[in-house]
Amino acid sequence: MKVQTIMADLERKHPGESEYLQAVQEVLESIEEVYNLHPEFEKAKIVERMVEPDRIFTFRVTWVDDKGEIQTNLGYRIQFNSAIGPYKGGIRFHKAVNPSMLKFLGFEQTFKNALTTLPMGGAKGGSDFDPVGKSDAEIMRFCQAFMWELWKNIGPDTDVPAGDVGVGGREIGYMYGMYKKLAREYNTGVLTGKGMTWGGSLIRPEATGFGALYFVEHMLSKAGKSIKGATVAISGFGNVAWGAATKATELGAKVIAISGPDGVVYNPEGMTKEKLDYMLALRASNRNIVAPFAEKFADATFIPGKKAWSIKCDIALPCAFQNELNGDDAAELLANGTWCAAEVSNMGCTPEAIATFQSAGILFAPGKAVNAGGVATSGLEMTQNAMHISWSAAEVDSKLHYIMESIHAACVKYGTQEDGYINYVKGANIAGFMKVAQAMLEQGIV
Ligand code: GLU
Repeated sequence: MKVQTIMADLERKHPGESEYLQAVQEVLESIEEVYNLHPEFEKAKIVERMVEPDRIFTFRVTWVDDKGEIQTNLGYRIQFNSAIGPYKGGIRFHKAVNPSMLKFLGFEQTFKNALTTLPMGGAKGGSDFDPVGKSDAEIMRFCQAFMWELWKNIGPDTDVPAGDVGVGGREIGYMYGMYKKLAREYNTGVLTGKGMTWGGSLIRPEATGFGALYFVEHMLSKAGKSIKGATVAISGFGNVAWGAATKATELGAKVIAISGPDGVVYNPEGMTKEKLDYMLALRASNRNIVAPFAEKFADATFIPGKKAWSIKCDIALPCAFQNELNGDDAAELLANGTWCAAEVSNMGCTPEAIATFQSAGILFAPGKAVNAGGVATSGLEMTQNAMHISWSAAEVDSKLHYIMESIHAACVKYGTQEDGYINYVKGANIAGFMKVAQAMLEQGIV
């Protein structure tokens, strides 16, 4: 395999799809060496097949807003790879959603899901619908219109969507209600992230953030460090940021920054239960601003227009969006003494940022390993749905612990360099790739 040749071909077929090309390039560079030790992969053209989605559904979503005006958005579902199980992955509602973003996310999801130890293929979906400022009734009508198109292509053993940026429990509820009406199928396993009274799993809302902190704990303990007393800067203030802030606080760290598109809140005293609850209220208000946090809590200060990475911290946790931490941000963090960065968002760091962290030799881990606890717990939700039972929070949490420990071990196995530095990017990419590649090989040319 020649990375450049494959990338040139992909660029020709998907011109200008920068996020997608970025995600593929990162994986190919990591696996090149191992891949070339396996002539059977080369012969079966595994990489050429793996970088293209199995299929993409694109559809128009038309709905009526509160003023009675007709609105049209685009909807997508990308079924990326089914080598190790039914398609699985979230749905993103954000004004910037486009095929490039969803292809990158679907590609990443394939490897992430492979890392979870559970049998799930990779998928992603979404729409350029912008939830900011929309009423609850508008969100419901949009979700219903979206499902009107999507329902035929999903199912508990086919493709199981879940939440992502802009899609939480409320949106999953509206989509599930419409799915049942259209499909006349009442199997709760068709979507994950459901409410607790209708098939949801305990710990699923917390799982991405909690799992991320379990992973970080393993990274730190391997490096002989502890999270107790460390200062943590988090970007975002949504569900994932909330889960990460909650667990970090519980483990004895001080969360000194959260941020939004409007700026950063400097929170030198750390989080309290009241502050953590308020993060959820802020998100539910649908305004997508973090400034009110500092109006409510006198010990916090809002700094407009600044990122979380401008705050001096030990550990940086991007929890918002792709490419939200760039090379300059990484340099600023390093200058301020940061010694660990872990992507909780998908592809939260640019390639320049990752190179900056790695060449400084600090701890760095990629989203597909760190945030895999979310989809892993979705997999546990599917298992409970299939068995028609509910596990206790403690049971789900202990399974989540085990999964994050396994992912960490897989990264260490494949990512430890000769000089002892653990390249978690390489480790996660190779571990995920080997599993998917082997499955594809065994299933023949399909
Ligand atoms: N959107 C989440 C992710 O990026 C969760 C997906 C799921 O639960 O299916 O992994």
